[in-house]
Amino acid sequence: MAKKNSFQIAIDGPVAAGKGTVSRLVADKLGFLYVDTGAMYRVTALIGIRNQIDLSNQDQLAPLVKKATIHMRNPNSQEKDGRLTTVLLDNEDVSWVIRTEDVSQGASKVAVHPQVRSVLVEKQQQIALEQDVVMEGRDITYRVLPQADLKIYLTANDVVRAKRRHHDLLTKGVDIEFDEVYKDLLERDHRDQSRSVDPLQIVEDAWVIDTSDISIQQVVALIVSKVELMSTVG
Ligand code: C5P
Repeated sequence: MAKKNSFQIAIDGPVAAGKGTVSRLVADKLGFLYVDTGAMYRVTALIGIRNQIDLSNQDQLAPLVKKATIHMRNPNSQEKDGRLTTVLLDNEDVSWVIRTEDVSQGASKVAVHPQVRSVLVEKQQQIALEQDVVMEGRDITYRVLPQADLKIYLTANDVVRAKRRHHDLLTKGVDIEFDEVYKDLLERDHRDQSRSVDPLQIVEDAWVIDTSDISIQQVVALIVSKVELMSTVG
């Protein structure tokens, strides 16, 4: 990996722990770029679905993903519709298409493939090389940015996470029962934690923050103060 020239905050954690919202707010406060790596696995699933590729077939998926241009940026003034980031696949805005339950399940299926992971990890490392980032995902603290200046593992208990996900879906107009959301979340957690390549894990030097009983604003304030302290001391 090339030598980094940026300040990197790496955040890992399970489904619906609040990583996206926390990362977006921390990035805004510090003026960093927010990078949602889950969106890249979602785009991979979308590419597979659109091309009618079996999502278990990494030999077909990986080259298509390698060729694709996946671009992420802060939403512009016409895109302030509740999205945390704007995701472009070969210049097409897929920010919302990749948020359906089908694509969510597909994302954790394509994420088990070593070839897919290696293509995406390289794209992610490239993004973080020259600009200050808050990058979140499942393998950021130990695979994508092992040299990160600050490593965080954000978590919350299962029921709190499922309630958050259910509430998000209902506010987006998706009519779905809580039990189904809870079951899907446990299935995705299981796939993320048990896959043989780069499973979700807590690294030794990670700062573990449990968001079950504290507000997103409190979590953001904690992280921002820590970075400010690091900048003063360092
Ligand atoms: O974070 P999000 O739920 O959008 O991620 C979608 C899926 O992508 C996750 O369930 C996980 O399987 C996969 N993922 C991953 N490594 C990352 C980010 C996401 O395996 N760094």
